[in-house]
Amino acid sequence: MIKNLLCMALIAAAGAATAQEQVVNLYSARHYSTDEALYSNFTKATGIKINRVDADDAGILARLKAEGTASPADVILLVDAARLYRGEVDGLFQPIQSKVLTDAIPAQYRGKASAEGTPWFGFSTRARVVVYDKLRVKKEDVDTYEELGDPKNKGKVCLRSGSHPYNLSLFGAVTEHMGEQKAEAWLKGVVDNMARAPKGGDTDQIKAVGSGECQVAVSNSYYIARLLRSSNPEDKALMDKVGIVFPNQSSWGTHLNIAGGAVAKHAKNKANAIKFLEYLASPEAQNYFANGNNEWPTAKGVKVNNAALNAMSGGGDFKAETIPLAAVGANTTKVQQMLDRVGFR
Ligand code: FE
Repeated sequence: MIKNLLCMALIAAAGAATAQEQVVNLYSARHYSTDEALYSNFTKATGIKINRVDADDAGILARLKAEGTASPADVILLVDAARLYRGEVDGLFQPIQSKVLTDAIPAQYRGKASAEGTPWFGFSTRARVVVYDKLRVKKEDVDTYEELGDPKNKGKVCLRSGSHPYNLSLFGAVTEHMGEQKAEAWLKGVVDNMARAPKGGDTDQIKAVGSGECQVAVSNSYYIARLLRSSNPEDKALMDKVGIVFPNQSSWGTHLNIAGGAVAKHAKNKANAIKFLEYLASPEAQNYFANGNNEWPTAKGVKVNNAALNAMSGGGDFKAETIPLAAVGANTTKVQQMLDRVGFR
């Protein structure tokens, strides 16, 4: 109901925009207070007003589909590579040409370019890392993704749903590294090692390690940074108990996912939409965008100044995988079939 009202307000705002009043209509899956500064700085610098609708990734994609050509959306911000890929193949975005963006954002963090341009760009990265019970598990037994499926970790592993985009993207990456057959055998091993059926979000997995329900789990790095920055004594006790490992440092590197943006297929303010995405690649915006959710910036030469992130990642100096996220996204349909076959809900 509220969303519908917001949508109607947005359509009205878009319709009422005159030549003098420059606007850009943004559908965002981000919901961090630091983003407010990000948006107001853009408006200050360009005079372009941002009309924003907040929803989660799946909600935004469903809405774009339902609205079709009538959609007021100009820019879309999502928080996962698999979902950006989904938006691309479902024809909800339009490729764009921007030298500013292709100069700033490394190719591995962009959608696959065609003659028309690039379908989406990643503006921040998050690592998918392993969390373990320091008292009961040795770090060297969980410092690769492969070991999550090794019989030595039987009955120890907690994971969220295999079909959640964060896991789909991780498994899409593993499939890219290992090949399909080995990846499926690995997924079967992971299922065999589960301490319980998949449930909850990333923070719930960390808490399950803390409570002793399981001994090994997987989480995005920003949930860990959030707990590390928390002043709540329970969170502090939890983070004293768990170890964090950035997997695969001596092979292909830790899996990185992205939050990123695209221009909507039926954007009525396309030039402003491109301006907004180009602004997100600027050093100033990169700091708000990445830091707001304890992530790393993607733009070349931009360094993050986030104590919790630096503490957990050795100053950010870890080996990250370098495969293109476009390839990871393209594997996710296959991965879903593999998950069905091995019984990973
Ligand atoms: Fe998240």
